[in-house]
Amino acid sequence: MDVKLAESRIKELQNLLNQYNYEYHVLDKPSVPDAEYDQLLKELVALEEQFPAFKTTDSPTQRVGGAVLDAFKKVEHRTPMLSLGNAFNETDLKDFDRRVRQSVGGDIAYVCELKIDGLAVSLRYENGLFIQGATRGDGTIGEDITANLKTIKSIPLRLSEAVTIEVRGEAFMPKKSFEALNAMKEENGEEPFANPRNAAAGSLRQLDPKIAASRNLDLFLYSIADVGATGVTSHSQGLDYLEKLGFKTNQERRRFTTIEEVIEFVQGWTEKRPHLPYEIDGMVIKVDSLDQQEELGTTAKSPRWAIAYKFPAEEVVTILKDIELSVGRTGVITPTAILEPVRVAGTTVQRASLHNEDLIREKDIKIGDYVVIKKAGDIIPEVVNVLPERRTGEEKDFHMPTHCPECESELVRLEEEVALRCINPKCPAQIREGLIHFVSRDAMNIDGLGEKVISQLFQEKLIEDVADIFKLTKEQLLGLERMGEKSVTNLLTAIEASKQNSLEKLLFGLGIRHVGAKAAKTLAQQFETMNRLSQATRDELTAINEIGEKMADSIFTYFENEEVHELLEELVEAGVNMEYKGPKPVSVADSDSFFAGKTVVLTGKLEQLSRNEAKDRLEALGAKVAGSVSKKTDLVIAGEEAGSKLTKAQELGIEVWSEEKMLLELEK
Ligand code: NAD
Repeated sequence: MDVKLAESRIKELQNLLNQYNYEYHVLDKPSVPDAEYDQLLKELVALEEQFPAFKTTDSPTQRVGGAVLDAFKKVEHRTPMLSLGNAFNETDLKDFDRRVRQSVGGDIAYVCELKIDGLAVSLRYENGLFIQGATRGDGTIGEDITANLKTIKSIPLRLSEAVTIEVRGEAFMPKKSFEALNAMKEENGEEPFANPRNAAAGSLRQLDPKIAASRNLDLFLYSIADVGATGVTSHSQGLDYLEKLGFKTNQERRRFTTIEEVIEFVQGWTEKRPHLPYEIDGMVIKVDSLDQQEELGTTAKSPRWAIAYKFPAEEVVTILKDIELSVGRTGVITPTAILEPVRVAGTTVQRASLHNEDLIREKDIKIGDYVVIKKAGDIIPEVVNVLPERRTGEEKDFHMPTHCPECESELVRLEEEVALRCINPKCPAQIREGLIHFVSRDAMNIDGLGEKVISQLFQEKLIEDVADIFKLTKEQLLGLERMGEKSVTNLLTAIEASKQNSLEKLLFGLGIRHVGAKAAKTLAQQFETMNRLSQATRDELTAINEIGEKMADSIFTYFENEEVHELLEELVEAGVNMEYKGPKPVSVADSDSFFAGKTVVLTGKLEQLSRNEAKDRLEALGAKVAGSVSKKTDLVIAGEEAGSKLTKAQELGIEVWSEEKMLLELEK
């Protein structure tokens, strides 16, 4: 490439990457996929190496991504928070290994960890107490997000030792929470998050901690900023020490002495990662010895003793055959791409939500286009972009309708919303979707009442509101397509059983706007009965940690409606339970149980109780149920096929109980 051309391409790439960095790190709203960003960055690194004269100090190759929002107090990091160099294949990893071995003498050991796809945070403790938490920001200055971080339950507010220490880790949103959050955002006419990373970052960079509290975030710790007086001499020892202090670390780490073992381990995770409950975008490989780390040092942007191996993004090309419209529970009209079926990341994809009209315009999507598909967060299929160069001229523009495809009322676009909405409260599609939501798993969980059966019952006018579900008779159900004697009996039993559900399931099922499954549980725990909740004032509602103004308003307005009270009365008459039945949070001081104040880890398959039931019951007696075994663990309950946690407990000499023994103690 000639010099002039190189100069202009370098400038172009620098500008483009700076813009992408801003969108990603500051706005939490990327406009291009990560793989594209990574590819452009790689091109820039190569060009700057070849033409160093054009490498400026503010080039994206020299700087840590983010910037700091003015809304937050600024925190200066005592030790900089760096980014990581990238490896995309085996050769890159071998090159890294060669560089390391050439620079330091002695044997090398590497620690391989999952690269959690969230955002880096730094936590400061003084005399064992959590005093400040910050984002990475530009690496030197971050944002003070202490109040938001305090809402993450796995962050200890007090450590097991009264040390003064700064630690770092990755805050993230589990996949399930991400899916639920986006589904709710869509129903509320808001723009969904592009992936769990952006959702986590967006949640932690909110001024109102109630938002973060409602988002189910979690955190894995992965380093000590300044080992100082800890006596720790290797990264792996550092991780063990973090656990001992009471932090949550990721258990999937391994230590190896050759790069070949590292490569094998890393490649193994390429297959296994879709099964993790959280998103990872690669693996991090770190030199274990801290002396060797120091010898290797860092560049302005990243340490020379670590590298991030990025998984290849699985993207495929297919044809977008059509765009279908659906009407959601709250009237939001969602366009969905109907695709020529294609396999991506382990499953066949035929549909992908296009979310709203703005997105269709932004991506310039036409019916008949060749499109690139990937799974956002490895779960939700998404149209990444179209391939305009493959157009034939036969493609058709798509226009959103002006009227509801189901009830023909005029559609509106509410202020500050991206979605078009049908605001007819009698719109049959909305009522049907509300019924489907009512019986769904996190709501009343009525087995056998799927989307198809509900649609039929609704069409036949056998159910018009949720109370009608409890009035269904055997004869009515037998009249439906594909419903035999046995399935009808099972269904009626399931309906009957659902009447005994604890209050939160009903509450979530009613579909009060902004009230997700987690908020429903909190409300049920706090108010205990539907009656008490229905009389709560706005102030009483917002006094609860996770309930913000918007949700409080929505709950208050919901219960002001006369029709809601009529519906609730009908439900009571049908015998539907209106009380909270779960465990009340118990303070350790109130409990005289053996488990009170003990840290318990559950592992292996339990036979009598589900994991969640066991956890609830232990917590109800004042135990803290932790996810990983450390020196702080008091007791491990091991079921069938218990693996590494049991081994670790045995190594550490921690008491191990069978499920039976736990049950006996629970019953006391
Ligand atoms: P990075 O995410 O590649 O690596 C550094 C980060 O990894 C650390 O800050 C830490 O947060 C994280 N991490 C997770 N697990 C870790 C572990 N076990 N040990 C150590 N660190 C761990 O680098 P970056 O500078 O934060 O961001 C670059 C990334 O962001 C790239 O993946 C890039 O694709 C993406 N990006 C995308 C866009 C876009 O427009 N799509 C723009 C900018 C950046």
